[in-house]
Amino acid sequence: MEPARITVFDTTLRDGEQSPGCSMNVQEKLRLAHQLDRLGVDVIEAGFPIASDGDFSAVQAIAATVRRPIIAGLARASRPDIERAWQSLRGARQPRIHVFLATSDIHLQHKLKISRQRCLEQARDAVRLAKSLCVDVEFSPEDATRTDREFLYQVLEAVVEAGATTVNIPDTVGYSMPAEFGDLIRSIRERVRGVQDATISAHCHNDLGLAVANSLAAVEAGARQVECTINGIGERAGNAALEEIVMAMRVRPDRYPYETAVVSEHLFRTSQLLSETTQVAVQPNKAITGRNAFAHEAGIHQDGMLKNPLTYEIMTPQSVGVPDSRLVLGKHSGRHALAIRCERLGFQFDRRELDEIYRRFVVLADNLKQVEEHHLLGLIHEGRSEGMAGGSGRTAAVP
Ligand SMILES: [Zn+2]
Repeated sequence: MEPARITVFDTTLRDGEQSPGCSMNVQEKLRLAHQLDRLGVDVIEAGFPIASDGDFSAVQAIAATVRRPIIAGLARASRPDIERAWQSLRGARQPRIHVFLATSDIHLQHKLKISRQRCLEQARDAVRLAKSLCVDVEFSPEDATRTDREFLYQVLEAVVEAGATTVNIPDTVGYSMPAEFGDLIRSIRERVRGVQDATISAHCHNDLGLAVANSLAAVEAGARQVECTINGIGERAGNAALEEIVMAMRVRPDRYPYETAVVSEHLFRTSQLLSETTQVAVQPNKAITGRNAFAHEAGIHQDGMLKNPLTYEIMTPQSVGVPDSRLVLGKHSGRHALAIRCERLGFQFDRRELDEIYRRFVVLADNLKQVEEHHLLGLIHEGRSEGMAGGSGRTAAVP
């Protein structure tokens, strides 16, 4: 059976940009949009055009120059928002208007102060208006996971009838659990009349660290679009991380027989570009794109890696665009890694010499977080001038 194709909807430039410290100007957004295009995402949500003139200009510029992916713009369920979104998007080769309206009682009563009936009508009218301008319309019932199920089905049925081609289910507050979210998607497929003609999408937030797990559960339950961001940036604890969703499917096709069009070799470069642009560092232990994601320090791990990388790596660094695994020299490292590093610097030692260097190395590493090349050269030099264990490190043939 052919693996099902999953649409990757990147919202780094919209939801991601909303996170503190991550705002970008038009030029920066444009540069990232071109990189997202190279990465192979299907949809770029370029901004929230009514929010500011800068956002409007960014969406317009991206729509005009990034031609392969669908370009989406966000709008509240109101005429001014939708018309503004359309103005910015109309130059796109494949524009999409993304309309959202909260549907949970807590949002209706306290934020919007409207009844469920009014909400239903407003959602339907907004989608109709968007549809009169653009064939590709996505609707999101904000706070879907805390919305009364029966009411959610009614709203989705109404917007699909009004012409929505994608219905996106946001776990806006990152409250859902994977099995629960999967069950919600499954029940929408079963209970919402007409939904088989639309694409069901998942939009998960990471407040409990479950955004990726919830997105994968949604896919298993029949969602065919995932909304995500590079490095998982986004409101509060962020969105589902694009690179993690993509690589989970690629590394485990036995469990997740789904395909995306993402060129995984561009993942690291894209992550780096985002981090350079926003000046927000990627956490070192971040899956896939963190500095330590392919670094090995423990001696046993390093020894295994040097014998066969499959011992401790489930994917190659090259498959996500990281130049090479890093064997980090620290106090947990063993003789094997030390010998390899010395060899790379042009020195080969016999067993006895290596023991002596290793003894000095352990003392040094106890006081340093990481042993760098110049430290190592210092050790070797020291050892030689003290006539290291009667021997001398000989320089390997210099080419
Ligand atoms: Zn969001």
